Amino acid sequence: MPLRTIPLLDTAELAQRQFQQTVRNTRLGQPEAPVLDPRQRPLRDLRISVTDRCNFRCTYCMPKNAFGRDHAFLSHEEVLRFEEITRLAQLFVHLGVRKIRLTGGEPLLRKNIERLIEMLATIDGIDLTLTTNASILAKKAQSLRDAGLQRITVSLDAMDDITFRRINDVNFPLDRVLEGIDAAARVGLTPIKINTVVKRGINENAILPLIRRFKGSGHILRFIEFMDVGATNGWRMDDVVSAAEIVAAIDAEFPLEAIDPNYQGEVAERWRFKDGSGEIGVIASVTQAFCRDCTRMRLSTNGRLFTCLFASHGYDIRALLRNDATNDELLRAITTVWQNRDDNYSERRTANTPRAEKIEMSYIGG
Ligand code: SAM
Ligand code: SF4
Ligand code: SF4
Repeated sequence: MPLRTIPLLDTAELAQRQFQQTVRNTRLGQPEAPVLDPRQRPLRDLRISVTDRCNFRCTYCMPKNAFGRDHAFLSHEEVLRFEEITRLAQLFVHLGVRKIRLTGGEPLLRKNIERLIEMLATIDGIDLTLTTNASILAKKAQSLRDAGLQRITVSLDAMDDITFRRINDVNFPLDRVLEGIDAAARVGLTPIKINTVVKRGINENAILPLIRRFKGSGHILRFIEFMDVGATNGWRMDDVVSAAEIVAAIDAEFPLEAIDPNYQGEVAERWRFKDGSGEIGVIASVTQAFCRDCTRMRLSTNGRLFTCLFASHGYDIRALLRNDATNDELLRAITTVWQNRDDNYSERRTANTPRAEKIEMSYIGG
């Protein structure tokens, strides 16, 4: 697919130069075949972390004891610029990526995120979406939609204010998130997916209230097993509520039947309510690993490529970008990273897998 020209921007000189090079160098031709890793998995999805910062301190992701006042967040210079992200996104699409998810940290905290969305929305043939804690979604839903965002995923772990505030650990009220979801629905950022991380002893009681609230709304609830991402969230296998337990709890009150995945490699197992009032998903990342179908590359806030959520090292593509690499050089680098990928962490995980080196989720994007 030829890369499309995107409008010139009023930005810093270096970014301008790199950007103009992309525009000059747009005739890349069609790749001959999908890029496959050694396990024959194609490169199809790209998750881009646009900031490592967040206004929440969810206990399973950025616990206060590890992300408090002394935590060193990335500097402005270290963070990839919009022109750099867009250029890389174009190259990824050229190599077969069809879905791009903006994430973080909290992506809506990135200044002028709408501008990045506008730039990415000019790339043909991609499904463009974003995952947010929805803390400022009510204010931003319309501008995100106007910028070209197609749909949105919201994280929401409880339907009662006390539990919700306890999990976000910054005393953030539940109502504001619910207002954000309503605003997103009004402007057409649909279908809305709502992600709930279930942690034993913390919020398994939230499963049925969430179902009662959103069943029949058209929004798709997805329950995620608590994962051992990073090294700071104190993960223990005992805290994982399995997807099977979650489905059984829902099925007992609201009968469910399994449905086929939308596409190969979909991470959520799909179930629909037998009464026809919609569907839910469960993401069994711990108890039923789906590495075999994993088609995701992650681009971190500071321009490292990660081929697995549980990786300890990333490839520094920012260094190439900022050293005037050509598009061909960048394409070769991305292809090589993917072709050398042999990740299957979740298939090998045990309760005792060491956690020291793994990169934090907020840094590479969930
Ligand atoms: N801040 C945004 C949000 O919360 O939606 C986007 C970034 S967040 C890292 C992306 C997703 O990762 C969220 O849905 C979050 O619930 C999920 N997540 C974070 N830590 C997790 C963990 N330890 N296990 C499972 N999911 C996790
Ligand atoms: Fe922030 Fe999202 Fe992590 Fe919660 S899950 S701390 S909202 S990045
Ligand atoms: Fe993909 Fe790594 Fe998760 Fe397996 S463990 S599904 S390879 S991100």
